[in-house]
Order: sequence, then structure tokens, then C-alpha cells
Amino acid sequence: MVIQNTAVLEEEHICPKCKAKMSCCEAPPMHVGDGLGWGSEVLFICLNNDCPTFTGGWEKVDVNYGHKATFRNMQLPGSTELNVMMVASEFAFTGSVVDPEKILAQNARYQKEKESIARLDTCVEDNDITPVMSLILDEMATPADRSRAIKLLKEFNDLSCIDPIRNHTFKKTDLQQEVNMVILQLLKDNFKKECPYCSELIKAQAKKCMHCQADL
Ligand SMILES: [Zn+2]
Ligand SMILES: [Zn+2]
Repeated sequence: MVIQNTAVLEEEHICPKCKAKMSCCEAPPMHVGDGLGWGSEVLFICLNNDCPTFTGGWEKVDVNYGHKATFRNMQLPGSTELNVMMVASEFAFTGSVVDPEKILAQNARYQKEKESIARLDTCVEDNDITPVMSLILDEMATPADRSRAIKLLKEFNDLSCIDPIRNHTFKKTDLQQEVNMVILQLLKDNFKKECPYCSELIKAQAKKCMHCQADL
């Protein structure tokens, strides 16, 4: 879930009826026919089972509608106006509580991805490998952008890129193969190879690894 307006995640809402901190929840899908929706991606809902709105609601709903349901207090972001939502059980909304840190992390990743893509055009002339590495190692970025970053990688002729790539698990095997080819070329251009035993970079013509002493 990407929230456009992350400032709402920092809001604190206190239930006016029970003084409990209201939970930031993902807004449920729209009511049929209402069309406008909540106008917000999240709602603040009092999930306190001792809240008088919740405990007293069962009887009210039963008397008025003959239903087994009750209410939860709700406020929209940026507002202290109190609304109620009808719920059929105490578990309604408990599964849609938003973890602000997780959302902020997701948003930050998304933001970084967008910036990296924007910087790809000029990164070679700027001699800035950061956006390239960032996209290559970002499993959430699109394969097309990551493939483009891999193609740019050879322009930098920078052997320090190998370590982080080797420490990364690529979920897409074709990207893994693509990046392997670039690394092989990079090593070749620099008269290096990776020790098959300890993975350290050594001279292409070495007979013995200077790091693990293995005979090659
Ligand atoms: Zn409450
Ligand atoms: Zn070695």
C-alpha cells in the first residue's frame, strides 16, 4: 500500500468517548452507490472493546434494526468530527490496522526508486553509480528498469559493485544472468577473476589465491 499523503500517518486521534488512542486503519472499499468514498486512504478507528460506543451499540442496533452488530467510533484524517461505523464483530478492522513505519518504509523505497530512474539518464556523465546500484538491488523495482541499470553498470568499470551484487539474492534468474555477464566482462577488462573458493577478486593469471591460499 502506497499512501500519497504520509503526513496523516503522524496524526494522533484520541477517541472522545473512551480516551483511547484510535488506530490508523486502511479505509474499507466504498459503499455501493456512494461513489465518493471516504476521500482518504486511512481512517482512525477506536478499537477499544471497552469503549462505550462499542459496548452500548449492540443493544441499540438490536432494538433499532434487529441486527447483531454494534459501532466503532471513527475520525477522518485532519478532522476531529466523530463518525460511527457499524461492525458485526469485535474483529472488524483489526486486520486492516496500518503500521505507519511499514508504510513510511514502503513509501521511502518507492520514492528512492523514482529518483533512481530519473537519474539513470545522466548518471554515467555524472559518474554516479548510486542510482544504478540502487535499482539493481531493488527487488520491488520493475525488471525493465533494473535491466537498464545493469546495462549501464559496465560504463562505470567499478569493481566495488561486485560485492553488493554477490551478496544479493535475485528473484529473477534472467536478471541474475544478465548481471553475471556484466561482472564477467568487468573482471575480464580488469584482468581479474573471482576465487572459486573464497570469492575474493584475484589476478586472472593467479595460480594460488592470495586470500585463502587455495591452488587454482
Ligand atoms: Zn472509544
Ligand atoms: Zn580464495
